[in-house]
Amino acid sequence: MSQPAADQPVLRWKPNSLFSSKDLKSAAASAQSTTLKEALDAVDKRKAKNVVMVTRVPSGWVTYEYVGSSACKVNFKELLLGGLPLGGDPLAPQTYIVDGKARFARIVHDGHRYRLDEVPRPTEEPTGPWVVEAIVPVEEINHGKNLTWLPKITLRPSPDELPAALKWVNQNMPAGTKVKAGGSKHSWSRVAVSDGVYIEPDRMKLSHTIDEEPNVYRNDLGERRGNLFRCGSGNTIKEMNRYLWEHGKSFPILGGFDGQTLGGVFPTGTHGSIFTRGPLAEMIVSIDLVLADGQLVRIEPADGVTDSKALATARSDLRLIQDDDHYHSALINMGTMGAVQSYMLEVTDAFHLKEVRTASNITELKEKLQGGKIYKLVGVQGKPADLEKIPPKISDGKDGGFKDQPLDAYHLEFLINPHSDKVVVTSRHPTTVTATVEAEFDFSPPGRDLVRTIHRGASFGRPALPTWFEENFGGLLSWGIDQITKLTPFLTPSLIDSSMDTLIDDAYIDRSFNVFNVGDGTNQLPALAASIYVPVASDAYLTGLDLVRSAAANFVKSRHRYETGPASMRFVKGTAATLGCGVDVCSFEFIFTGSTTYALEMVEAYEAALKEGLGAKEVRVHWGQLVGEGVRRREGYPEYEKWRQVRDELDPKAAFINEWQEKIL
Ligand SMILES: Cc1cc2nc3c(=O)[nH]c(=O)nc-3n(C[C@H](O)[C@H](O)[C@H](O)COP(=O)(O)OP(=O)(O)OC[C@H]3O[C@@H](n4cnc5c(N)ncnc54)[C@H](O)[C@@H]3O)c2cc1C
Repeated sequence: MSQPAADQPVLRWKPNSLFSSKDLKSAAASAQSTTLKEALDAVDKRKAKNVVMVTRVPSGWVTYEYVGSSACKVNFKELLLGGLPLGGDPLAPQTYIVDGKARFARIVHDGHRYRLDEVPRPTEEPTGPWVVEAIVPVEEINHGKNLTWLPKITLRPSPDELPAALKWVNQNMPAGTKVKAGGSKHSWSRVAVSDGVYIEPDRMKLSHTIDEEPNVYRNDLGERRGNLFRCGSGNTIKEMNRYLWEHGKSFPILGGFDGQTLGGVFPTGTHGSIFTRGPLAEMIVSIDLVLADGQLVRIEPADGVTDSKALATARSDLRLIQDDDHYHSALINMGTMGAVQSYMLEVTDAFHLKEVRTASNITELKEKLQGGKIYKLVGVQGKPADLEKIPPKISDGKDGGFKDQPLDAYHLEFLINPHSDKVVVTSRHPTTVTATVEAEFDFSPPGRDLVRTIHRGASFGRPALPTWFEENFGGLLSWGIDQITKLTPFLTPSLIDSSMDTLIDDAYIDRSFNVFNVGDGTNQLPALAASIYVPVASDAYLTGLDLVRSAAANFVKSRHRYETGPASMRFVKGTAATLGCGVDVCSFEFIFTGSTTYALEMVEAYEAALKEGLGAKEVRVHWGQLVGEGVRRREGYPEYEKWRQVRDELDPKAAFINEWQEKIL
């Protein structure tokens, strides 16, 4: 036995049907051994009542000891298997348990499921190789709790192990097995669902500056070079924000949440509201993608950052595809082409933002936006770090802008209540801060800690009490909203109006990523959401606004039910990503509390009204949010056939496209 091993798996014990399960406590530092025999010798030294798990790892075996129970010795038949490691082989697991009665049991796969079988003390070392890190599958539940799925096999590879993992799937699983790589499960659509093989993101972590990468990149990248980072698909946005800030960098654009993984956030077209930019996926300059047969390909535009000759010499395991059609098809692909190992992202110098939230109404909104005037109010050009030094002109409300808001903002969005006239205008614009102020900032938006939030001063936090209440009593808050919307639905619009009033704030200044983030409390409230994209050209989105409001009114008339949250209007530049919106769009995001049973029905009503009023081809949806059922959506994407060709070429056996995706595309 040598060094302690980290990350002890949770071993859950459910003594009988009367007791709920409990996690057995760790009894000792876990330990590594080179052979199974050595590991079993170590097991013999455990305390008598304790339970031990011995599992194979790439470098040998790890032994984990758990505190047993003297009163009622732990029986292996009472242990819950979900999440336990499979010792490198999902079909012939190499994991043993020694229970409180000193019996040996081994996890076995019987062709359908996993169970623990009693076995004699093993005497032989395994002869086959350690193949891939896998765990006993558990039922997966998305954040919105509207979807569950139970994979047959759950893999947890590192970036380096991913090619071998997929090769193993290809060679060992039945033909037709579906595979999905998963992110942080924050999609409400079935975009990540797989009852075949599910690849968890937890170990797919990697963060490299370009200088820490093998020297395979073009040497004429100039200033761009310092902004290029290769990042694992399992890194979360939150982890990346910290890493980039510590390297003097920031993402130039973000959505309102930081919990997604990179692998999960990009392929659904996640976006923010900086009108000079398209979806977040446009920050990708290079994708390392593992195909279903385990082959590793690097996809870049024709003028990509990799030097093909240098790559061929340094990485013979990696096939380079520098081609615009492949690149644009891969940017937003809903995980249908393979499993992303890493991305190279192009970011920008670190910057701060100032958020201002002011009240408005539908009449003012339409008046100030009609005639394409949205382009005057948002879309300032320039690097955010440069914009920090140029204070924006602030509107007096009579010059075409919204009073107290910048006239040409970096980020602009509107929050509306589809059932009332209320509007909240939110701008976010680069601003400078002193070094003393910067020293007060953190890697999360202020909120959870009320004292700290108040101490920072009003300009450096969102309204303190509502934020603190939301973050600490989020469950209670959403329960309260649910009760009101169920028992007295007619009060819902005024409830939403009141919650919108609490947002008004003349300044919140922080590191850019904290300001983009709408707050941990808001993001953790159980919610459902759908975004529908409508073109900005010819003010189609203002017609869309009328259509949305009348669809909401009709829903109330026919169903006596209301949208249980506000809706936002965000602006996204047209993108070359084939499954993104090719034209500038306004994204209407409809938000509901998590228990709104009719949310999808209402979303379908909005979509139908928008399609009828604007034409079916003009209306597109967010691939990761609630998506109306039963509608083929390829007609909104003129280059769909090209996309399909690329997808089919990369994944000819259709392993990565699930039933739902086949249906909606
Ligand atoms: C609280 C909250 C806030 C949100 N805010 C916004 C917002 O501001 N703007 C916006 O546009 N959307 C927003 N969304 C939607 C969200 O950004 C998307 O649904 C996003 O795709 C979810 O990412 P994820 O990490 O949870 O991935 P998942 O939902 O787990 O997966 C999404 C897709 O990525 C694929 N995938 C994941 N990892 C890989 C990989 N390694 N290789 C290949 N494919 C992979 C999956 O197969 C799946 O197709 C929000 C959602 C929530 C719940």
